Amino acid sequence: MSMSGRLVVVSAPSGTGKTSLDVKIVRTHTSKVQMVRSCTTRSERSAQSALDNKYRFVSRSQFQKMIDAQEFVEWAEVFGNYYGTSKVDIEHVFAQNKIALLEIDVQGGKQIKMRYPHAVSVFVLPPCVAELHRRLVERDTDDLDMQQRRIGAAYREIEVGRCYDYFIVNDDFDRSYKELESIVLHAKQGKLTRAAGIKVCDVLLSEFASLDLLGTSQRQVK
Ligand code: 5GP
Repeated sequence: MSMSGRLVVVSAPSGTGKTSLDVKIVRTHTSKVQMVRSCTTRSERSAQSALDNKYRFVSRSQFQKMIDAQEFVEWAEVFGNYYGTSKVDIEHVFAQNKIALLEIDVQGGKQIKMRYPHAVSVFVLPPCVAELHRRLVERDTDDLDMQQRRIGAAYREIEVGRCYDYFIVNDDFDRSYKELESIVLHAKQGKLTRAAGIKVCDVLLSEFASLDLLGTSQRQVK
């Protein structure tokens, strides 16, 4: 595959607002930026997000066939379901001379960076863990067990997110959007240097412990 096009990975713990930022960038810059479609084995939600076409819903056996046929540039298991990005879906975006935006988890982000070092990776962070917790608890779509799994997963996402290239703290939507826009369109750093972004990750990771949000079991939940 020709990978000369620009590839941008955006990851974040759930509840950080990454989808709203991504939706805004693809809608504002329709001729320049396109979200790459993912395949997933999770079931379709009745109230689908603003990214209606983000997913191709497939069965587990179809997904396995795609793995065997090496159709994916990355794939991962997230909350018990499989998610993956196929070469064809990236090529589809490059064929239109657009920047390919991948909204994927950190396991996938790491695979993309290993395979395509020129890809740009952006990690969106919450302003603080208490705020992230509040957003996750207020989501009426999740039961308590799922909320706890998401908190445990958020911890692990931030641990891995430390290896990303760019960091945005989403404490103000408009400012965060401007930062994302300049990274995606111009690879231009926002407010945080990489070193400062890593420090924010470390502060957030210590907040999980001080707020006593993580039981040992939650850290291990996959
Ligand atoms: P949701 O099911 O809530 O839309 O997404 C769950 C998680 O899977 C999110 O962190 C999302 O970014 C991630 N995800 C979505 N598509 C992909 C993909 O193609 N590959 C990987 N690795 N993660 C994905």
